[in-house]
Amino acid sequence: MSIPDIIIAIDGYSSTGKSSFAKIIANEFSFLYLDSGALYRGVTLFAIENGFISDDNTIDVPGLTLALEDLDLHFGEGGTYIGERCIESEIRGLGVAGKVSPIATVPQVRDYVDRKLREFGSAKRIVMDGRDIGTTVFPEAELKLFMTADPLVRAQRRADEMKAKGDEADLDAVLKNLQERDYIDSHRETSPLTQAPDAIVLDNSHMTMEQQLEWLKDVIAERFGE
Ligand code: C5P
Repeated sequence: MSIPDIIIAIDGYSSTGKSSFAKIIANEFSFLYLDSGALYRGVTLFAIENGFISDDNTIDVPGLTLALEDLDLHFGEGGTYIGERCIESEIRGLGVAGKVSPIATVPQVRDYVDRKLREFGSAKRIVMDGRDIGTTVFPEAELKLFMTADPLVRAQRRADEMKAKGDEADLDAVLKNLQERDYIDSHRETSPLTQAPDAIVLDNSHMTMEQQLEWLKDVIAERFGE
Protein backbone atom coordinates (compact mmCIF):
# COMPACT_ATOMS: atom_id res chain seq x y z
CA MET A 1 0.00 0.00 0.00
CA SER A 2 1.17 3.56 -0.57
CA ILE A 3 1.44 6.09 2.17
CA PRO A 4 1.97 9.87 1.97
CA ASP A 5 5.11 11.69 3.15
CA ILE A 6 4.43 11.88 6.84
CA ILE A 7 6.14 11.58 10.21
CA ILE A 8 5.08 8.61 12.31
CA ALA A 9 5.76 9.18 16.01
CA ILE A 10 5.79 6.11 18.27
CA ASP A 11 5.87 6.59 22.02
CA GLY A 12 5.17 4.23 24.86
CA TYR A 13 6.44 2.26 27.81
CA SER A 14 9.80 0.48 27.93
CA SER A 15 10.16 -2.78 26.02
CA THR A 16 6.80 -2.61 24.30
CA GLY A 17 8.50 -3.41 20.99
CA LYS A 18 8.52 0.19 19.71
CA SER A 19 11.86 -0.15 17.92
CA SER A 20 11.06 -3.53 16.40
CA PHE A 21 7.72 -2.23 15.13
CA ALA A 22 9.29 1.01 13.87
CA LYS A 23 11.91 -0.95 11.92
CA ILE A 24 9.22 -3.07 10.29
CA ILE A 25 7.22 0.05 9.38
CA ALA A 26 10.36 1.65 7.91
CA ASN A 27 10.99 -1.43 5.84
CA GLU A 28 7.38 -1.79 4.70
CA PHE A 29 6.89 1.82 3.60
CA SER A 30 10.49 2.87 2.81
CA PHE A 31 10.68 5.28 5.72
CA LEU A 32 13.78 6.38 7.61
CA TYR A 33 13.85 4.83 11.09
CA LEU A 34 15.28 6.84 13.97
CA ASP A 35 15.75 5.41 17.47
CA SER A 36 15.72 8.38 19.86
CA GLY A 37 16.37 6.14 22.88
CA ALA A 38 19.74 5.18 21.38
CA LEU A 39 20.86 8.81 21.72
CA TYR A 40 19.82 8.93 25.41
CA ARG A 41 21.65 5.62 25.87
CA GLY A 42 24.71 7.06 24.08
CA VAL A 43 24.80 10.12 26.34
CA THR A 44 24.47 7.74 29.32
CA LEU A 45 27.43 5.60 28.23
CA PHE A 46 29.44 8.79 27.75
CA ALA A 47 28.41 10.01 31.23
CA ILE A 48 29.36 6.68 32.86
CA GLU A 49 32.73 6.47 31.13
CA ASN A 50 33.62 10.05 31.99
CA GLY A 51 32.48 10.03 35.61
CA PHE A 52 29.46 12.36 35.24
CA ILE A 53 27.15 9.88 36.98
CA SER A 54 27.98 8.06 40.22
CA ASP A 55 27.07 4.58 41.44
CA ASP A 56 24.06 6.03 43.27
CA ASN A 57 23.01 7.92 40.10
CA THR A 58 24.03 11.38 41.29
CA ILE A 59 24.68 13.41 38.16
CA ASP A 60 27.27 16.14 37.70
CA VAL A 61 24.93 18.29 35.60
CA PRO A 62 27.28 21.27 35.01
CA GLY A 63 30.14 18.95 34.04
CA LEU A 64 27.99 16.87 31.72
CA THR A 65 26.39 19.94 30.13
CA LEU A 66 29.79 21.39 29.30
CA ALA A 67 31.08 18.08 27.94
CA LEU A 68 28.03 17.69 25.68
CA GLU A 69 29.27 20.66 23.65
CA ASP A 70 32.02 18.44 22.23
CA LEU A 71 30.18 15.12 22.18
CA ASP A 72 29.96 13.75 18.64
CA LEU A 73 27.08 11.29 19.05
CA HIS A 74 25.49 10.17 15.81
CA PHE A 75 23.92 7.35 13.81
CA GLY A 76 26.10 5.47 11.37
CA GLU A 77 26.61 2.12 9.72
CA GLY A 78 25.22 -0.55 12.06
CA GLY A 79 23.92 1.77 14.78
CA THR A 80 25.00 4.49 17.17
CA TYR A 81 28.46 6.03 17.30
CA ILE A 82 30.57 8.32 19.45
CA GLY A 83 33.01 9.77 16.94
CA GLU A 84 34.31 6.76 15.02
CA ARG A 85 33.51 4.24 17.76
CA CYS A 86 30.42 2.07 17.34
CA ILE A 87 28.72 1.85 20.75
CA GLU A 88 25.68 -0.15 19.68
CA SER A 89 26.30 -3.22 21.82
CA GLU A 90 27.45 -1.34 24.95
CA ILE A 91 24.34 0.85 25.06
CA ARG A 92 21.97 -2.16 25.12
CA GLY A 93 23.20 -3.72 28.39
CA LEU A 94 21.72 -3.36 31.87
CA GLY A 95 24.64 -1.10 32.92
CA VAL A 96 23.38 1.68 30.65
CA ALA A 97 19.70 0.71 31.11
CA GLY A 98 20.04 1.27 34.88
CA LYS A 99 21.22 4.86 34.41
CA VAL A 100 19.55 6.09 31.25
CA SER A 101 16.27 7.27 32.79
CA PRO A 102 17.99 9.46 35.43
CA ILE A 103 20.22 10.92 32.68
CA ALA A 104 17.13 11.54 30.49
CA THR A 105 15.58 13.70 33.23
CA VAL A 106 18.31 16.35 32.75
CA PRO A 107 16.85 19.19 30.63
CA GLN A 108 20.23 19.98 29.04
CA VAL A 109 20.52 16.35 27.90
CA ARG A 110 17.01 16.52 26.43
CA ASP A 111 17.92 19.75 24.57
CA TYR A 112 21.03 18.08 23.17
CA VAL A 113 19.09 15.03 21.91
CA ASP A 114 16.13 17.10 20.62
CA ARG A 115 18.45 19.25 18.53
CA LYS A 116 19.87 16.14 16.88
CA LEU A 117 16.45 14.60 16.28
CA ARG A 118 14.88 17.70 14.79
CA GLU A 119 17.63 17.90 12.18
CA PHE A 120 15.94 14.90 10.55
CA GLY A 121 12.47 16.46 10.62
CA SER A 122 12.68 18.17 7.25
CA ALA A 123 13.26 14.80 5.58
CA LYS A 124 9.67 13.57 6.19
CA ARG A 125 8.94 9.86 5.62
CA ILE A 126 10.33 9.25 9.08
CA VAL A 127 9.31 6.82 11.77
CA MET A 128 10.81 7.72 15.13
CA ASP A 129 10.31 5.98 18.47
CA GLY A 130 10.82 7.23 22.00
CA ARG A 131 8.97 8.70 24.96
CA ASP A 132 8.20 12.28 23.89
CA ILE A 133 8.21 12.17 20.09
CA GLY A 134 4.50 12.90 19.59
CA THR A 135 4.37 15.39 22.46
CA THR A 136 7.64 17.34 22.23
CA VAL A 137 9.96 16.41 19.36
CA PHE A 138 7.38 16.25 16.54
CA PRO A 139 4.04 17.46 17.97
CA GLU A 140 3.02 18.07 14.34
CA ALA A 141 3.51 14.38 13.38
CA GLU A 142 0.63 13.23 11.18
CA LEU A 143 0.38 9.81 12.82
CA LYS A 144 1.05 9.13 16.50
CA LEU A 145 1.02 5.74 18.18
CA PHE A 146 1.21 5.07 21.90
CA MET A 147 2.38 1.53 22.64
CA THR A 148 1.73 -0.43 25.80
CA ALA A 149 1.71 -4.07 26.93
CA ASP A 150 1.49 -6.13 30.09
CA PRO A 151 4.74 -5.58 32.12
CA LEU A 152 5.47 -9.28 32.52
CA VAL A 153 5.05 -9.90 28.79
CA ARG A 154 7.42 -7.01 28.13
CA ALA A 155 10.04 -8.27 30.59
CA GLN A 156 9.90 -11.76 29.11
CA ARG A 157 10.34 -10.42 25.59
CA ARG A 158 13.30 -8.26 26.58
CA ALA A 159 14.93 -11.12 28.53
CA ASP A 160 14.51 -13.45 25.52
CA GLU A 161 16.05 -10.80 23.29
CA MET A 162 19.07 -10.43 25.59
CA LYS A 163 19.53 -14.20 25.84
CA ALA A 164 19.33 -14.55 22.07
CA LYS A 165 22.27 -12.14 21.88
CA GLY A 166 24.20 -14.30 24.34
CA ASP A 167 23.82 -11.84 27.22
CA GLU A 168 22.74 -12.80 30.70
CA ALA A 169 19.15 -11.92 31.53
CA ASP A 170 17.48 -12.38 34.89
CA LEU A 171 13.73 -11.92 34.41
CA ASP A 172 13.22 -10.23 37.80
CA ALA A 173 16.07 -7.78 37.15
CA VAL A 174 14.72 -6.96 33.69
CA LEU A 175 11.17 -6.45 35.06
CA LYS A 176 12.45 -4.24 37.86
CA ASN A 177 14.49 -2.16 35.42
CA LEU A 178 11.62 -1.55 33.05
CA GLN A 179 9.22 -0.64 35.85
CA GLU A 180 11.76 1.77 37.29
CA ARG A 181 12.30 3.37 33.90
CA ASP A 182 8.56 3.68 33.26
CA TYR A 183 8.14 5.37 36.63
CA ILE A 184 10.98 7.86 36.16
CA ASP A 185 10.05 8.51 32.50
CA SER A 186 6.41 9.21 33.38
CA HIS A 187 7.14 11.40 36.40
CA ARG A 188 10.01 13.64 35.28
CA GLU A 189 9.43 17.36 34.97
CA THR A 190 10.71 17.90 31.42
CA SER A 191 8.80 16.13 28.62
CA PRO A 192 7.45 13.22 30.67
CA LEU A 193 6.21 10.10 28.94
CA THR A 194 2.54 10.73 28.32
CA GLN A 195 0.05 9.86 25.63
CA ALA A 196 -0.48 12.73 23.19
CA PRO A 197 -4.20 13.58 22.94
CA ASP A 198 -4.18 12.65 19.25
CA ALA A 199 -2.22 9.40 19.67
CA ILE A 200 -3.77 6.01 18.97
CA VAL A 201 -3.16 3.36 21.63
CA LEU A 202 -1.74 0.00 20.60
CA ASP A 203 -1.72 -2.66 23.34
CA ASN A 204 0.26 -5.51 21.83
CA SER A 205 0.29 -7.87 24.85
CA HIS A 206 -1.36 -10.56 22.76
CA MET A 207 -0.41 -9.53 19.24
CA THR A 208 2.23 -10.81 16.86
CA MET A 209 4.26 -8.39 14.79
CA GLU A 210 2.25 -9.38 11.69
CA GLN A 211 -1.00 -8.55 13.49
CA GLN A 212 0.39 -5.18 14.53
CA LEU A 213 1.35 -4.38 10.95
CA GLU A 214 -2.12 -5.37 9.71
CA TRP A 215 -3.65 -3.18 12.42
CA LEU A 216 -1.47 -0.26 11.32
CA LYS A 217 -2.37 -0.70 7.67
CA ASP A 218 -6.05 -0.48 8.61
CA VAL A 219 -5.37 2.70 10.58
CA ILE A 220 -3.46 4.21 7.66
CA ALA A 221 -6.11 3.22 5.11
CA GLU A 222 -8.79 4.79 7.27
CA ARG A 223 -6.86 7.96 7.90
CA PHE A 224 -5.01 8.56 4.63
CA GLY A 225 -6.97 6.46 2.11
CA GLU A 226 -8.59 8.23 -0.82
O1 C5P B 1 13.69 3.43 23.91
P1 C5P B 1 14.77 3.04 24.89
O2 C5P B 1 14.36 1.99 25.85
O3 C5P B 1 16.06 2.69 24.22
O4 C5P B 1 15.04 4.35 25.72
C1 C5P B 1 15.93 4.36 26.81
C2 C5P B 1 15.56 5.47 27.77
O5 C5P B 1 15.82 6.73 27.16
C3 C5P B 1 14.11 5.52 28.23
O6 C5P B 1 13.86 4.68 29.32
C4 C5P B 1 13.96 6.98 28.59
O7 C5P B 1 14.45 7.22 29.90
C5 C5P B 1 14.88 7.68 27.62
N1 C5P B 1 14.16 8.25 26.48
C6 C5P B 1 13.51 9.46 26.65
N2 C5P B 1 12.91 10.06 25.59
C7 C5P B 1 12.90 9.48 24.38
C8 C5P B 1 13.53 8.23 24.20
C9 C5P B 1 14.13 7.63 25.28
O8 C5P B 1 13.49 10.01 27.75
N3 C5P B 1 12.34 10.11 23.35
